[in-house]
Amino acid sequence: MGKMKEIVMKDLPIVIERKKIKNMYLRLLPPQGEVHISAPERMPEEEIRRFILLKYDWIVKQQLRMRQRPEQKVLAYESGEEVYYRGKKYTLQVIPAGSMGVSLLGDNLILRVKQNSSPEARAKILNLWYREALTEVIPELLHKWEKVIGVKSSAFTIRDMKTRWGTCNIRTGKICFNLQLAKKDRICLEYVVVHELVHLLEGSHNKVFKAYMDQFLPNWKTIKKELNS
Ligand SMILES: [Zn+2]
Repeated sequence: MGKMKEIVMKDLPIVIERKKIKNMYLRLLPPQGEVHISAPERMPEEEIRRFILLKYDWIVKQQLRMRQRPEQKVLAYESGEEVYYRGKKYTLQVIPAGSMGVSLLGDNLILRVKQNSSPEARAKILNLWYREALTEVIPELLHKWEKVIGVKSSAFTIRDMKTRWGTCNIRTGKICFNLQLAKKDRICLEYVVVHELVHLLEGSHNKVFKAYMDQFLPNWKTIKKELNS
């Protein structure tokens, strides 16, 4: 990975990565459309800023479009659909049964539901299972990283959030995790744990914050990309 720098233009945060390349490239990273510029090592920053100004209206328009896009496909909760758990893809198998619940069998995620249950009812059972899965692993991750970072959270909650993976109330020490993290690889969850705990040392995403992230989880940028892919 090249040398990274973050600048802000008209409220627009922009990550500039210097690389051994000839031309400048602009990318908008999903899901929020974070602006990422790859630029030749010796190109003056002024030239990059001029380029961004030219593209400014287009960038804002694209970001709006990306943010309005539903972040995931809407499931009908029928057999054969793809579902995710801990970073792995499973095929959903919906089975009518007396007792409701979820289990894994090879590449299949078995969803036991009442006969003729609605998609909403099926979603509820799966989400409950996701929530239990997170509730099981988060305490040990918090414990592990609180010792490393030298901070202490007061409590955690899990919510199905639309735009954020986690939040931290630095006044109360309460951390909230996105339910969708149950679908992601454990390292992604671990990254969010570290990110939110580091907020207890530094509230904003500034240089100090990033230096802490580099210190505690040196490959956090790669994991962050994986999380948002
Ligand atoms: Zn944050």
